[in-house]
Amino acid sequence: MATLYSNIASLITCSDEGLGALGEIRNASLVVENGRIVWLGEQHDSPACDEMVDCELGTVIPGFVDSHAHLVFAGNRAAEFEARMNGDAYAAGGIRTTVNATRQSSIDDLTRNMKSLVDEMHAAGITTFESKSGYGLSLETERLSLEVAGQFTDEVTNLAAHVVPPEFKDNFDGYLAEVIAPSLSRDLHRWVDVFCDRGAFTIEQTRQIFTAALAQGCELRLHAQQLEHSNSIQLVEEFDIASVDHCTHMSDHDLELMASTSTVATLLPGAEFSTRAQYPDARRFVSAGVPLAIATDCNPGSSFTTSMAFCLAVAVRDMRFTPEQALLAATRGGAQALRRTDVGHLTVGGRANFVRLSSPSYLHMMYRPGVPLVSETVIDGHTIYRRNNVA
Ligand SMILES: [Zn+2]
Repeated sequence: MATLYSNIASLITCSDEGLGALGEIRNASLVVENGRIVWLGEQHDSPACDEMVDCELGTVIPGFVDSHAHLVFAGNRAAEFEARMNGDAYAAGGIRTTVNATRQSSIDDLTRNMKSLVDEMHAAGITTFESKSGYGLSLETERLSLEVAGQFTDEVTNLAAHVVPPEFKDNFDGYLAEVIAPSLSRDLHRWVDVFCDRGAFTIEQTRQIFTAALAQGCELRLHAQQLEHSNSIQLVEEFDIASVDHCTHMSDHDLELMASTSTVATLLPGAEFSTRAQYPDARRFVSAGVPLAIATDCNPGSSFTTSMAFCLAVAVRDMRFTPEQALLAATRGGAQALRRTDVGHLTVGGRANFVRLSSPSYLHMMYRPGVPLVSETVIDGHTIYRRNNVA
């Protein structure tokens, strides 16, 4: 059965096929059959179809690809947020509050909590997302967390190296041998990530973890330069790292190193926003030639948002992305950060993962911050979210 999505004021394909970087077609329509896009183009050329959806002069964009999220945990840290907004500084140790709550939870509780966040992501137009473990920090709870994440996404990341838990205080070797190394398994996760920053893991420790991960056939990503500048970016020369995330404190030399590899820099506007930290300047990455992604970093401590539109609004206002760069970073850029070519763009023959916005342009996501504009989210041709009051 072929479905025609017609009356689209602006169809943004994010596929560079001679239509400018955004691949925009105005007054467009789109045909979906068996989960694939079988036709797209100008409305007046539309083929006949079995059924028709009137997009009411709204916008269609590719589903967002959120390449950085922490969705397996219990509890929340609203009190810590309040303290921070009252003047306390953000430190990596707050993670332990969530670890305590997560360890006391059942697999059902963790699954239910993740399900509600995944529902939020779908309502926000996110059709592909990564999720990390990292709030168990014991072999049993880390494995459980990886299993929970694997129920919702193929992009599962082992982040046992989030922080060293109190029972291994000053004993990294013990933590590596007893928890991190035995938790590494390509069956449960594709990726391995390390929080290489002040109060978390050192560069040398990160090297050891990455070496163990590669021996298990895992692929690598990295949290770095969020809290302070260090030499951690040199790791992109030593290891094939898909994405370095945060990149808040980057020297010109760091940017040159990044640009000499295929590593993506994933910027996380929600993290700087929620911790009231200094924003990185996207213009420096662009002029250095570093590919960019924008992700939500959804986590209960430093960025408790599933709203990609909110992240785009902050990225444009405070990180100096142009609106066009921001949209590309949250779609094609996210796909690149996950080394995926099947998502993040709309092409004939490709997957029908897209979002309908009720606004006449994608710009309204940044121009009208905080206003819910997603009217429908479609994955592989199936509607997984539809706003109640929209036909
Ligand atoms: Zn993170």
